[in-house]
Amino acid sequence: MNLRNRVFTLGAITLVAMATLERPAWAKAQGQADAAGRVPTVEEYQPRSTLVTGEHKPERAKYPFVDIHSHHWNPTAERVDQLVKEMDSINLRVLVNLSGGTGESLKKTLAVMKGRYPNRFVVFANLSYDDLNTQGYGKRAAARLEQDVRNGAQGLKIFKNYGMELKYANGERVHVDDPEFDPVWEKCAELKIPVLIHIAEPSAFFEPWDYRNERWEELREFPQRARPPSKYPTFETLVAERNRLFAKHPRTNFIAAHLAFHGNDLERLGKLFDSQPNVYVDIAAVLAELGRQPYSAHDFLVKYQDRVLMGKDIYDVNEYKWYFRALETRDEYFEYYRKRHAFWRIYGFQVPDEVLQKIYYGNALKLVPGLEQQWRAAGQ
Ligand SMILES: [Zn+2]
Repeated sequence: MNLRNRVFTLGAITLVAMATLERPAWAKAQGQADAAGRVPTVEEYQPRSTLVTGEHKPERAKYPFVDIHSHHWNPTAERVDQLVKEMDSINLRVLVNLSGGTGESLKKTLAVMKGRYPNRFVVFANLSYDDLNTQGYGKRAAARLEQDVRNGAQGLKIFKNYGMELKYANGERVHVDDPEFDPVWEKCAELKIPVLIHIAEPSAFFEPWDYRNERWEELREFPQRARPPSKYPTFETLVAERNRLFAKHPRTNFIAAHLAFHGNDLERLGKLFDSQPNVYVDIAAVLAELGRQPYSAHDFLVKYQDRVLMGKDIYDVNEYKWYFRALETRDEYFEYYRKRHAFWRIYGFQVPDEVLQKIYYGNALKLVPGLEQQWRAAGQ
């Protein structure tokens, strides 16, 4: 290297060094800040894993499956056509729309989904609380549900405001095991339809929003998800009421949404299963709970293979593949699709084929009346 080149090289190095010191905002935003500088914020620190290990990324489920937990409010015919195409691309044979509503709006949703694709969709009804404060509510709600089932609904979905935010006109909270609703649960037993019920929220939402909270990021992004004791019943209160409800109606099948929010304590969920044979769960939106404990998740799913159902919740055809990868492979330390749910990477816990088939469809076929015929017809 001659002198001239050497001077040029030194100059270039200086320029690079200066550019690094004066890094523009976009460079910071893209995580290109230098290691020697200030401490990055928790959002800025996005280390890229150097781990080299086998990767298997199924684009389609190994077996056809039922999504027991999906939401589609008043979909149009075009939307439903599109949905069927997307379902075919990932081996999703039957989708359960939990957001059917009741009465006339339910009829519309049934017509646009089941009416046009009789074997590809199941629609669950919802309760109207409009007349909650008029005497005899429970019996009327049960009668409406019976009519909804006659119109084609195949289950009942209870949304999370129940037990947590729903109140009588006098300001009193509707408890999860409020006897006013007993006629509804008994009607479900009589009609042999399952109740997919969302009670409480992740326990971290009920805890102080501080730097030790596992869902700190999510609570920062959505502060309204916090459940401070000043405004809401505690997690344990809700769980206790819920368990009394399950025990009081042993002939009614309940599918507790989101691993009953015990995904972070599978032993506790196992005890619930042991004491209540009428209780099932879905894995919708809580995959990261299973994925952070692959050994426990595997053993749990093998032990309780008759009680767990595949579900996704918020519909996005591109996100199902994380479920396939977690359930079907032994891939290690991979990123989850929704970072605010999991401040960690997840692992595949590959369950045996016969367990996979029960989770993907077998358990759903047993619980939802009429689904087995739809399933068979759709598979031909
Ligand atoms: Zn949901």
